[in-house]
Amino acid sequence: MADEQEPTVGLPKRFLGVFQYSRRALALVWTTSRGLTVALALLTLVAGVLPAVIAYIGQLIVDGVVAAMTSTEHDPRRVLWLIVLEAFVVILVAASQRGLSVSQSLLRALLGQRVNVMILEKALTLQLANFEDSEFYDKLTQARREASSRPLSLVNRTFGLVQNAISLTSYAVLLFAFSPWAVVILIGAGLPSFFAEAKFSGDAFRLFRWRSPETRMQMYLETVIAREDGVKEVKLFQLGPRLLQRYRDIFEKLFVEDRRLTLRRDTWGFVLGLLSTAAFYGAYAWIVITTINGGITLGAMTMYLVLFRQGQAAVAASLSAISGMYEDNLYLSNLYDYLGQAVTPHHGEAKHGPHPEQGLEFRHVSFYYPGASGNALTDVSFQISPGESLALVGENGSGKTTLIKLLTKLYNPTDGKILLDGLDLKQWDVEALRQRIGVIFQDFGRYQFSVGENIGAGDVRHIDDAERWAKAAKTGMAAPFIEDMPEGYETQLGRWFKGGRELSGGQWQKIALSRAFMRTDADILVLDEPTAAMDAASEAAIFDHFQSESHNKMTILISHRFSTVRAADRIIVIHDGEITEQGNHESLLAENGQYAHLFRLQAKGYQ
Ligand code: ADP
Repeated sequence: MADEQEPTVGLPKRFLGVFQYSRRALALVWTTSRGLTVALALLTLVAGVLPAVIAYIGQLIVDGVVAAMTSTEHDPRRVLWLIVLEAFVVILVAASQRGLSVSQSLLRALLGQRVNVMILEKALTLQLANFEDSEFYDKLTQARREASSRPLSLVNRTFGLVQNAISLTSYAVLLFAFSPWAVVILIGAGLPSFFAEAKFSGDAFRLFRWRSPETRMQMYLETVIAREDGVKEVKLFQLGPRLLQRYRDIFEKLFVEDRRLTLRRDTWGFVLGLLSTAAFYGAYAWIVITTINGGITLGAMTMYLVLFRQGQAAVAASLSAISGMYEDNLYLSNLYDYLGQAVTPHHGEAKHGPHPEQGLEFRHVSFYYPGASGNALTDVSFQISPGESLALVGENGSGKTTLIKLLTKLYNPTDGKILLDGLDLKQWDVEALRQRIGVIFQDFGRYQFSVGENIGAGDVRHIDDAERWAKAAKTGMAAPFIEDMPEGYETQLGRWFKGGRELSGGQWQKIALSRAFMRTDADILVLDEPTAAMDAASEAAIFDHFQSESHNKMTILISHRFSTVRAADRIIVIHDGEITEQGNHESLLAENGQYAHLFRLQAKGYQ
């Protein structure tokens, strides 16, 4: 948003400054395919020089005709040969233009892929916090929407500019013989429309930037209205017309701005274009009068007129290439902004801690989300030893999931520290740390892949290992229904792809649990309410299994079912981000606090 507040006097400077991305775009294209870049450059050169050659042959032809008409000595076959030559050169032009368009198409595909991969690779290095930040999301969306086509466009325009500059130079050399002023008029007449173009490119870009939130809202509405997971509610709550109206309103608003800009751009384009027309006809009259006065031959007149007309087109094309390059640069600044997004480095390198027997410890941990007004966790301290199980109890929004996010280093504590094996998480190598943890969140992934991959995703090293899938599925209690499906582990899940099969909420949860059990090496298992959609019997059976499988493991589970919670070695009650009670089931009941209250409430429900 800073751009639009900059004073317009800085325009030329800003205009030049913005071309800094040209070099990077060229380098990008060059490293994407050297062969194609060289082809593009050579063909540009050829296509740039040939038009002047054609104009020159044209002059020779007309003069040849005039000479043949006025003198009997002149051989008319010479003129015919010149025509053949011109036809040949025209074919060369056509061939080089075709070659240009082939190289451009191929480069476009390669570059589009390359830039998209760059965008996605960057996404992999970013933090969860980045994705939860709407400004960052705008950057990502802008980068994805435009950036993949812009580098090539920039390079095409650069080459186009070179091509036109070559043509223009060759025209200027020929025109110079007529009068240097003709060259000045030729170039001068194009400048006003150029400055107008540049200004409007900048305006269009700023419009594009401001609008990113609205455009995203539109994309979001499309998703809600037209994607399988939104459809149910949209239909049953009859949200359709209202959402569609919102979609239309956004368009109307954007369209008004677009129309204003387009009209202004084109009106100015037309008015300033008149200047070029006037210049052309002025020059036309001048050349004709010079010819009538016998200053030049008829052939020269024809050539100069062609030169002037084509020269004007080349000036216009060059100038619009420059303003287009300016525009591409603006859009590329988005891409590079996004790619340059600072990544908080993980400093830690430790793969082991000094005291494995100490297990996991939270020491006076406090945390608030970036931009949030209050703490999500305040002064949380507890410790679990290897082999122990911990249950977290608390109402929605009390901070249970946040605690897990800190433990898994998706976020870092604002205060206090978390130790694993006696070593601060900050010092742990994040990969080594994550290998030790198997976690299933409430909103676990429902991948539109096969059943096997959905389970295998729990341990990428063994993502294709069918034997492990089956074992994990057995522990996660997913095996029975998977084996009932005709294609078993090969069954495609979800509805997005052909033959996909949708599962019930509870079945998805069993898949997710099995995914956690793929991580046989992990010694910290975390289940954040992944069993809420299961029947109580399945949940109890799973946790039983979970405990018996995890002798030396630490388990943390979040559940609202006390039948499950009570079995944990240690229970922590969290309220508003603070630990209010801590103990085992019996001691907490004896304490007769919140836990006892909630437990009795639920127990009553079952009586
Ligand atoms: P629980 O898992 O106990 O239901 P959470 O840990 O998800 O609760 O949330 C704790 C508090 O943090 C809530 O007040 C919630 O609004 C807030 N919160 C959760 N996620 C975010 C986030 N990404 N950004 C900002 N605030 C968040």
